[in-house]
Amino acid sequence: MELIDGKAVAQKVRNELKEQVEDLKKQGINPKLAVIMVGDNPASKVYVRNKSKACQEVGIDFEEFLLPEDTKENDLLELIDNLSSDDSIHGILVQSPLPNGLDAQKAFQRIIPEKDVDCFNAVNVGKLLIGLDGPLPCTPYGVIRLLEEYNIEIEGKHCVVLGRSNIVGRPMAQLMLRKNATVTTCHSKTQNIKEITKQADILISAIGKPKFVTSDMVKDDAVVIDVGMNRDEDGKLCGDVDFEAVKEKASFITPVPGGVGPMTIAMLLNNCVKVAKNNR
Ligand code: NAP
Repeated sequence: MELIDGKAVAQKVRNELKEQVEDLKKQGINPKLAVIMVGDNPASKVYVRNKSKACQEVGIDFEEFLLPEDTKENDLLELIDNLSSDDSIHGILVQSPLPNGLDAQKAFQRIIPEKDVDCFNAVNVGKLLIGLDGPLPCTPYGVIRLLEEYNIEIEGKHCVVLGRSNIVGRPMAQLMLRKNATVTTCHSKTQNIKEITKQADILISAIGKPKFVTSDMVKDDAVVIDVGMNRDEDGKLCGDVDFEAVKEKASFITPVPGGVGPMTIAMLLNNCVKVAKNNR
């Protein structure tokens, strides 16, 4: 079994981006990410802080827009419009969840596709579907990069994706399809899930249930990618996969923490730098 070191790969991506940002700056372009946060959800604060730190490391300017909990929809949309038309800003993201009463989809769809570094805008989701160039959704893109870094063949393999959320499962399946895998998606209504997962050459779990994937669900020498970020009964961070048991069977496996998690922000920065390059 080989452990997939997401922390190391994310560091490599950030190092590459740092060089690209230095080049852009020499050409007078300062990549900049704007993050909108409404209310003070403690988990969101941590995510935003981590994004800010990562931007600082690679030299991307970072501006945070903190709006009060009782922000009106129109004010949020107006801010998004202003940032969309501001040429100094290359990437915009609205940190979710939004407080009750604010429609996150409405906000995501308001960000112009060119600056939609999360790849939530329907135009970019459509591009992903039909294989046109555009930003790629950060977590699934991070998974692809991990597989590539470890020279894991995707083409022709049977990939089973657990979960069909708009953020992870669905775009993950699409990206694997684009890479010529044969893809099966499972969700909460799937029957005989174990029979399906046992056929996977590459098993990607994104359901948000601690230790859901047990070793009897995994084929010998399968590649197991754990996107889940959960708390176990002791409050410890864990994935969807029963890591200790499954690692005995897998050929490659991602740990939690230190697997897919660090890749998400790295790929967000990658998307932001790409926008800045395109604007050159
Ligand atoms: P989500 O929106 O709650 O979606 C969960 C998906 O799992 C749904 O499609 C659901 O099916 C499916 N599901 C739930 N229970 C199931 C079961 N028993 N069997 C099969 N499928 C089941 O979650 P998400 O946003 O995709 O996130 C999933 C996990 O990834 C979470 O732990 C989250 O914290 C983590 N995550 C990590 C990162 C990272 O950077 N590492 C990024 C994003 C998310 P239905 O569609 O039928 O309801």
